[in-house]
Amino acid sequence: MSAPFNNSVAVITGASRGIGAAIARAFAQEGASLCLIARHQAGLDELAAQLPLHSQARVMTLALDVTDREACFHAVDDTLRHFGHIDTLVNNAGIYQSKTFLNYTASDFQGMLDVNFFGVLHFMQACLPHMQARHKGSIINVASTAGKWGSRNQSAYNVSKHAVVGLTRCVALEASPYQVTVNAICPGFVETDMLDELRAQASMSAGTSAEDFEKAALARVPLGRMMRPEEIASMAVFLASKNATGMTGQSIHMDGGMVL
Ligand code: NAP
Repeated sequence: MSAPFNNSVAVITGASRGIGAAIARAFAQEGASLCLIARHQAGLDELAAQLPLHSQARVMTLALDVTDREACFHAVDDTLRHFGHIDTLVNNAGIYQSKTFLNYTASDFQGMLDVNFFGVLHFMQACLPHMQARHKGSIINVASTAGKWGSRNQSAYNVSKHAVVGLTRCVALEASPYQVTVNAICPGFVETDMLDELRAQASMSAGTSAEDFEKAALARVPLGRMMRPEEIASMAVFLASKNATGMTGQSIHMDGGMVL
């Protein structure tokens, strides 16, 4: 039986765990072939072995750092050689750091931008010429609610995510004559390893206990709970699907109602 993403190919960065792994599972479920990317091969291999791949679908894994522009371009070339085309790029790889603004160094900011912003830029520039030539494709950038508002004690992270939201809007305009869509998902708190890091680091920066931090965080979420990675993945599936071909330049909150 044909599935929505049969014969589709998706490149997913930061795919080895958390939100990226949930997106990989959801795309596999819909019939896609996948190129999965993260720095560490072991996590990619473990995920690849468990994916609910359809019979005609294939998976390839590439261990690379998204800050390495040349490696990002090679990865796209390898994927095209392997599968022949790319339908969807999901830029999901990201890192988090919490410090008060005065404690950040310029190199902290640079390190955050190198992964969260330039990693996205490298992969978009590597994939777009191919998608534009086919007059087909979707790019999905995983930003954050931190790309829409200010937060205490994580200015470098917020700046990197504002940059992703801005780039999404600008590239959407330039890609739209080619019917290539570019959208961002802005998750709120999502239950992953990164949220554990945020709990630990942000409560320390704010000088509160982890329990008080958790209570304050949950009080900001109208649905009263953290999001699940699968909830972010279902939005990625929608944005890559035929149902979303008329949607571009948007940055969509998936945050339990935090930003209203
Ligand atoms: P996570 O559990 O920490 O996973 C991060 C993924 O990115 C891993 O696969 C990691 O694998 C990969 N990665 C990190 N740095 C990389 C690099 N330099 N090059 C290549 N891959 C790299 O994080 P997550 O919570 O799933 O977050 C995924 C995305 O959602 C991030 O962009 C994050 O900012 C965003 N987000 C998360 C939340 C949340 O509450 N969790 C909220 C809003 C937005 P390796 O370590 O093997 O490289």
